[in-house]
Amino acid sequence: MIYKKTDMNRKTISDRVSFEGVGIHSGERSRILIHPAEPGDGIRFYIRGVEIPASFEYVSNTVMSTDLEREGVTVKTVEHLLAVFHLLGISDAIVEFLEGFEVPIMDGSGYEFYIMLKDKIVDTGVYIEPIDLKGYVRVGESGCYIEAHPSVSFEVTYKGSINHIDCGDIFTYSGGDPEEIVKARTFCYLEDVDTILEKGYGKGGSTGNVLIIGKEGIHSDEGLRYPDEPLRHKVFDLIGDLYLLGAPIRGMIVSYNGGHSLNIELIRNIVKSLPAVKLL
Ligand code: ZN
Repeated sequence: MIYKKTDMNRKTISDRVSFEGVGIHSGERSRILIHPAEPGDGIRFYIRGVEIPASFEYVSNTVMSTDLEREGVTVKTVEHLLAVFHLLGISDAIVEFLEGFEVPIMDGSGYEFYIMLKDKIVDTGVYIEPIDLKGYVRVGESGCYIEAHPSVSFEVTYKGSINHIDCGDIFTYSGGDPEEIVKARTFCYLEDVDTILEKGYGKGGSTGNVLIIGKEGIHSDEGLRYPDEPLRHKVFDLIGDLYLLGAPIRGMIVSYNGGHSLNIELIRNIVKSLPAVKLL
């Protein structure tokens, strides 16, 4: 997508929106209230008296989800909500936790966030400086790496094979209709479920909020929403993590089997590659 001038304005929401549900990893009930914010405030989480900016600087965990921490207080699994903010261009909002500490997983995708937020967007008319890559950035090793190339447009690709289902191995989001990716759900493999639970993750997971892929096919309350839904979810996750840069990015990002850890490593390396004035 080549950005139009209005795409580069700061945006907030017209009024408050709440979401509630379960945290996919903690299994705890969670309730969040998203408030409008002033241009320049950025995206901030507000929990138990602590404000945590949605910035890579506060990332405390990237195993199974992207979590932020400040002053000993954690907000967990921020990536899907951030992906929807990124896709809608919402740059300024406060996400207050009324209960729990993990963003509710909803149906495993960003669709409910998207539907509730998309008609409440307010263009503040204040320009937001996009992050322009100044050169090629690469993180990871052979077989599992991410490349970022300078570009006038924004494009995110995930390349990797998905076990058990025949869905190709590449998907690119070029900044078109967010509905190409917002409905894509979190997924895992049936053979990994016991290990995930033993390690203390996925306590809130169910066939209603995770696409479980097994040798015999899909174990979920509904079938695939897109033939290549897992690939699209990987792109969606990456777009969420990228928003921890604090501004929209212009560039072509290609992930080869990457996940949250590499996504955050990429962000840190992108920031290092930028002139200091671009840091937020
Ligand atoms: Zn995800």
